[in-house]
Order: sequence, then structure tokens, then C-alpha cells
Amino acid sequence: MEIFDKIGEVASQTYKYTAEKADKIARETKLKMKMNENKSKIEHLYNEIGEAVYRRHIAADKKNYDEEIENACEEIDKISKEVEQQYNELLAIKDRKQCPNCHEKIEKEAKYCSNCGMEQNQDVKEEQEDYTENEESNDAIATEATEEEKASNDSNEV
Ligand SMILES: [Zn+2]
Repeated sequence: MEIFDKIGEVASQTYKYTAEKADKIARETKLKMKMNENKSKIEHLYNEIGEAVYRRHIAADKKNYDEEIENACEEIDKISKEVEQQYNELLAIKDRKQCPNCHEKIEKEAKYCSNCGMEQNQDVKEEQEDYTENEESNDAIATEATEEEKASNDSNEV
């Protein structure tokens, strides 16, 4: 019986692994599609802005065009932020992240950026908690940090 239990265990682990991998690929594909859609939207807005700038050049009343151009620019800001988020999600799926300083793609668990050397910390602390489960050296640091957090939270409450 024991042997069959073991086989079942291995099989379910393998299944879990494959399912996780498939899920990652699906999420990756979906994100890439969304990012491409957003990039097309931005391209389209660039065209509109270019056209509006030219129409403004010809027009007697330029005021209407200023507003049109500003709105399109704001729309680009909004979509760009979305793309940035989607890109970070994509990196997270691949166990990577962006350095907040130089935007280089680096290992998610890296303590220092391999490009600019900037220390990587606070902003990823929460995400790292379930991520560093099997790394004991990082665990100690993570626990220390959460305890510090708790301490500061406690003092805030009092
Ligand atoms: Zn960097």
C-alpha cells in the first residue's frame, strides 16, 4: 500500500508542477497580448497627436486643439502606467523584477542590482515573504524585518 501512496504522491506533484507551468505560460501569454494592445493604443494616440498638432498649425482658433492634444497625452500617461504594471507582472512570473533605479531586469531575490548596484529592499519585502520559504538565510532577514514592522506598528498604535 505504501508504495502506491508514494506513486500517487509523486504523480500529484508532477501534475501540480505541470499545471503551475501551464498556468504561468497562460498568464504570460495573456499579459503579452494586453501589453501589445496597449502599445497599439499608444501608437494610435501618437498619430492622433501628430495630426492634431498639424491641424492646430493651420487653424485660426488653436485653443480647441490644445485641449485635444493634452487629452491624448494624458491618455498615453494612463496606458503607459498600465503597460509598466503589466511588464512587472510579467517579470514576476519569470521570477524577475525591475530595479527601481535603473529599470534593469534582475533576479527577484537579488539584494543588489547587478547593473547599478542599488540595494533592493522595502518595496519587495511583502512579496518576498512567501517567496523566500526555502531560503533560510533570507528567512532570518525577512523575520527580522517583519518584527521591526510589528514593533513600529505597535508603537504607532500606542
Ligand atoms: Zn539598477
